[in-house]
Amino acid sequence: MSESSSTPWQTSASRLNEGSDGNADQGLNDGELTEGLDLGFDGAEDILRVWRRGIRPDPDLTVSQWADAHRKLSSRASAEPGQYRTTRTPYLRAIMDALSPNHPAQRITFMKAAQVGATEAGNNWIGFVIHHAPGPMLAVLPTVEMAKRTSRGRIDPLIEDSAALKERVQPARSRDAGNSMLSKEFPGGILVLTGANSATGLRSMPARYVFLDEVDAYPASADEEGDPVTLAEARTTTFAHRRKVFMVSTPTIRGLSRIEREFEASDQRRYFVPCPHCDAMQWLQFERLRWAKGQPETAAYDCEGCEKSIAEHHKTQMLERGEWRSTAVSDNPHAIGFHLSALYSPIGWKSWEQIARDWLAAQGSDEMLRAARNTLLGETWVESGEAPEWQRLADRREVFAAQVPMAGLFLTAGADVQKDRIEVDVWAWGRGLESWLVDHIVIPGGPDDPACWDKLTALLAQTWTHQNGAIMTLAKLAIDTGYESAAVYAWARKQGIAQVAPVKGLEGFNRATPVSGPTFVDATVNGRKLKRGARLWTVATATFKAETYRYLRIERPSNEGRALGVADPAGTIHLPDWADSEWLKQLVGEQLVTIRNKRGFARQEWQKLRERNEALDTRVYARAAAWILGADRFDERMWRQLEKQAGVQTAAITQTAETEKSTEPQAGRITTPRRRGWKISTPRYME
Ligand SMILES: [Zn+2]
Repeated sequence: MSESSSTPWQTSASRLNEGSDGNADQGLNDGELTEGLDLGFDGAEDILRVWRRGIRPDPDLTVSQWADAHRKLSSRASAEPGQYRTTRTPYLRAIMDALSPNHPAQRITFMKAAQVGATEAGNNWIGFVIHHAPGPMLAVLPTVEMAKRTSRGRIDPLIEDSAALKERVQPARSRDAGNSMLSKEFPGGILVLTGANSATGLRSMPARYVFLDEVDAYPASADEEGDPVTLAEARTTTFAHRRKVFMVSTPTIRGLSRIEREFEASDQRRYFVPCPHCDAMQWLQFERLRWAKGQPETAAYDCEGCEKSIAEHHKTQMLERGEWRSTAVSDNPHAIGFHLSALYSPIGWKSWEQIARDWLAAQGSDEMLRAARNTLLGETWVESGEAPEWQRLADRREVFAAQVPMAGLFLTAGADVQKDRIEVDVWAWGRGLESWLVDHIVIPGGPDDPACWDKLTALLAQTWTHQNGAIMTLAKLAIDTGYESAAVYAWARKQGIAQVAPVKGLEGFNRATPVSGPTFVDATVNGRKLKRGARLWTVATATFKAETYRYLRIERPSNEGRALGVADPAGTIHLPDWADSEWLKQLVGEQLVTIRNKRGFARQEWQKLRERNEALDTRVYARAAAWILGADRFDERMWRQLEKQAGVQTAAITQTAETEKSTEPQAGRITTPRRRGWKISTPRYME
């Protein structure tokens, strides 16, 4: 429903340049503004009305000047309350000012790390528009739900805390029945927040300003009506050269990342700062952040001019004296792009030491490394799904000193159920998720054969010998429910949840949590249907396949290095001399390909290179079992405990796992007593 009554706006007070002439905008009428637009939505009248009132010249003030004068941060919305100061994050000045009406840029891209203050730059722009350059503004978040949260958590405080904004903005209200838009009205303009998943929201109104926040989290298509960015940008056509499109995101995956694509099409500006020793101007690169091995607290930056070490306390002055320089030529002179890593984060936010620590903590986990690249460096993660050569793997096979080599600290298995057999691979896992193939078992018979299940049951009690003589059983077996799920549930239920995890593979990537669950599903046991009788874990197999291939490509230390005590890198996969060529070919039997549909949207998918690939499937399930045990979040204490229980004496620990981030350890969910034990040890996480 649209309001028809007049709103008591203080329009004259807001018109800074009232009465000035020579403004072409004054000549525009509704017809010109709305040409080709669908105005049949609720609230269209409101927008036309605010236009008529708001059309006026833009003030000669930049967004950063506005922020330094009017933007107030309250303690509830900011860690540093008080007057906003651009000098705190000087690199944002040029970005904000490119959003000012007197700047020629129309399309501004900001690819960035977390903790560089990008959110405030966006907030300042919104505040500036409301106060000094009103017009219709569309702010797009990845989803409608996030738009609602942003409205409450970010936009409301922005307006509340700055007097100049508070007196101009009407209270928020829902604009349409589906509640997919949220709006704020102000004299001369309107701010509409919506989600990239809502085509209705994106088509809702013509917009002079379009703010596309976290674009890398947008869905490929809004309600199957096409690319949300294209839909949103189409709203600006009417405004021609006066339009501004601001696209911000932390990047995600190379090839899929929108923000990277946009940045690469821009003039690619980087923030050059002077060396305090030699004055050489340079942009900060992670490769030049150096620290003594295992001592992130010694992190300092090596100047590319004089090679001298720059201590972090110089940063404040370096940022002050910095400047943006383009490093490429854009086809579109009105499209400019900025890139910034967390290395620029001001003193008191993210320190170089913390960046080094986070980086070290991420080693060995594909997911954490990806997150570190995205949020610390502001760079995309390269998903290399090219299958390693099986011959190369064959050449690297090793003779293990025992069934389970010294550094293998617990065992998991992945079981793949086929029509005529069940294939099981047993993997040992150590620090940094280094792994060893310990056993390959084929149980003939298939799910219809009770003897086959009996043999699988017996496997749960089977033992393998550790290099130090200890006897180990499986800590967890993950079994695929994709084929004959009823039989698998029935068997799994009988074994109990401590040692067995039924899993279901899901296409696609889920990096936030490659394994989710368990969920409760119906199971039939001895002909009796049990509602919610089985616990099922869901595995994003694509994520673990990518990780496995990355681990398989890890370079080994040279013999020289090994003699000097260089250990295998985290994630290294060790294959025994008995692994045959068929098994090796299965392990590398798929590849990741990027598929573009006819509209150019990309997605990635794993494709089989050969018919059989059980070795890869069972590896993925065994890996999922390690995740379910909590291995991705084991802290130093846990690894030491596992080593102690296995009787392993370790030398100096090089990589210290960070514990502070394990907010919800997966292992914490496994609280039921184990019926069958891992005989060499009963780690605390399984008790
Ligand atoms: Zn220098």
